[in-house]
Amino acid sequence: MNRVVLGLFLPLWLWAAVARGDTAPVRVEGVLKPGGWAIVTAPAGSELRFGGHVVKFDWLGRLPVGFARDSHSPVQLVVTLPQGGQVVRQIVLAPRDYDIQRINGLKRKYVSPDPETLAQIRRDIAAAKAARKRFLRQVSGWRERPFLWPVGGIITGVYGSQRILNGKPRRPHFGVDIAAPKGTPVFAPADGVVTLAQNMVLSGNTLMIDHGYGLRSTFMHLNRLLVRAGDRVRRGQKVAEVGATGRATGPHLHWGMSWFATRLDPATFMAVEVRKGDRVRALTATVVRPAGK
Ligand SMILES: [Zn+2]
Repeated sequence: MNRVVLGLFLPLWLWAAVARGDTAPVRVEGVLKPGGWAIVTAPAGSELRFGGHVVKFDWLGRLPVGFARDSHSPVQLVVTLPQGGQVVRQIVLAPRDYDIQRINGLKRKYVSPDPETLAQIRRDIAAAKAARKRFLRQVSGWRERPFLWPVGGIITGVYGSQRILNGKPRRPHFGVDIAAPKGTPVFAPADGVVTLAQNMVLSGNTLMIDHGYGLRSTFMHLNRLLVRAGDRVRRGQKVAEVGATGRATGPHLHWGMSWFATRLDPATFMAVEVRKGDRVRALTATVVRPAGK
């Protein structure tokens, strides 16, 4: 008897909770810090407003969001429920600071490019921007956790550091650098679709893998590209080789991630923190810190 009563009243209670909004089942889980991400859960059919974007939840009522390097905590998510009414969530982000990275000895054309190089750089930026504007609903790599390190090697650059190139302050480093010998295989960290695969002035051979719902990986300085724009790739699939093409001082993989145009810290997708000198293992979420660090 009791079970029957519960069966009748639970849906009613849920409906009432959703209609009120304040207790609606909106959940936010992830790595809640600048450069990190969250998976937001809400009733299917809801819509999220965050960071200048309005995004409909997937059929399971889930979607990803990313937090910018210089986010001011708390950030605010607004969920519009299918029946109308809104739920506002304040998300407190853990504090985070960034180091300063000085790089000297770069060729002049990369630091102060001539007009011709500059024009090509602008075309490259436009192509990358166009790829980042795409919104793929049918790709579900964004749901996979953890992501996998795309290459094994030593961390030589971390997300967010302020860069000073040949003594000139430049924009922060929006990615993780992993040093590995030229030709080392590079694997897809999660399922996706290749939306860009071409040579660019600064980033050399560049690959962009769209993981769906605005989330994507960018690999730079590759020796060889083994996939083409439009290809579907699976988590763990070999997609390229490590190289030193473009503005690179030695062979390494630059792995950047973004949610729309917001640059994220790839390490947060393995739920780890990395420092320079750490070793990461390809196709795992593992970080090995040398003893005494
Ligand atoms: Zn880099």
